[in-house]
Amino acid sequence: MALRIVFKMPVSKAMGQTLVRAMSSQAVASKNVGFIGLGNMGSNMVSNLIKKGHKLHVYDISKDACDSMKAKGAIVYEKTSDLAKNSDFLITMLPNNDIVRDTYNQLTADGINKNTIFIDSSTIDPNVAKEVQKFITGKGARFIDAPVSGGVPGAEQATLTFMVGGTEEEYNIVKPILECMGKRITHCGGYGMGQAAKLCNNMMLAISMIGTSEAMNLAIRQGLDPKVFAEIINSSTGRCWSSDSYNPVPGITHTAPSNKGYAGGFSTDLITKDLGLASDVATATNTPIPLGALSHQIYRTLKAKGLGGKDFSIVYEFMKNEANN
Ligand code: NAD
Repeated sequence: MALRIVFKMPVSKAMGQTLVRAMSSQAVASKNVGFIGLGNMGSNMVSNLIKKGHKLHVYDISKDACDSMKAKGAIVYEKTSDLAKNSDFLITMLPNNDIVRDTYNQLTADGINKNTIFIDSSTIDPNVAKEVQKFITGKGARFIDAPVSGGVPGAEQATLTFMVGGTEEEYNIVKPILECMGKRITHCGGYGMGQAAKLCNNMMLAISMIGTSEAMNLAIRQGLDPKVFAEIINSSTGRCWSSDSYNPVPGITHTAPSNKGYAGGFSTDLITKDLGLASDVATATNTPIPLGALSHQIYRTLKAKGLGGKDFSIVYEFMKNEANN
């Protein structure tokens, strides 16, 4: 209403330009953003929020992770409850269900700032997301689920896809903040629906990574040059993110973890967790996921072989090392 009155008044061109500048600076106004979980993904997301002019309040159990964010200008906290009180938005980017639950218990231990909007971007069970949403709403604040896709390169380049579960109003409130870290911000539906979308995407990612590794290995064993074969897939029907942006064979995708000894990236531990969550929801909804279930078993085997800390594209090495005589 106020804006409509302003534009009905006769204004000079210069005055109009000043008003437009004032409005756009309001749209990108600096916010106090809390961030908990400064790992492979969180550290890059925090860097992008700082670059966009926000004031970052951070916490991680790893001192090294906190120190490196402090060097970039973030304020490091000892207690998450203090951090929460100083945050307009608070984003969590944590490993699993239990850690997310415990973190929300701890950060509300000394009360809650009812104006804080809590956003969980970790990948967790949709039912746990709904449980935490009820817990936070019960204390008078708001919570939405907003897991991401795009991997560490997407986090670095601020091109993540966010899958938001919450009301339309909450989606509109969080969108400008999420746009500092991502390119596509999609409203998936009510609470838990962001996580529901994310689990299905990651099940497909695991299947496609195994498929890419299997095909690359078979091509190489037949004598094909891996670069030539990758070019073929990437301009043919086998093309997928695992083949064109994250190829599991060293020497093909310059930025992929396969070129760094499978370090960093998206760990085998995390994809195994996601496949376990997909199995749980498939069981609960009586849905067949034969390839998802097989992928889960393959990744569990890699974990059992001590490869949980390696990037999930290490599944290629596993196939390569299988005897061929
Ligand atoms: P990560 O293991 O690199 O980082 C997790 C961080 O959480 C670590 O710095 C760890 O010290 C910290 N942490 C653990 N327990 C904590 C606690 N109690 N309090 C505060 N900090 C704690 O994991 P990541 O790769 O950054 O992934 C984080 C989340 O994002 C996971 O749920 C994962 O499934 C999801 N995800 C990861 C990727 C990816 O490509 N890595 C992509 C999409 C989504």
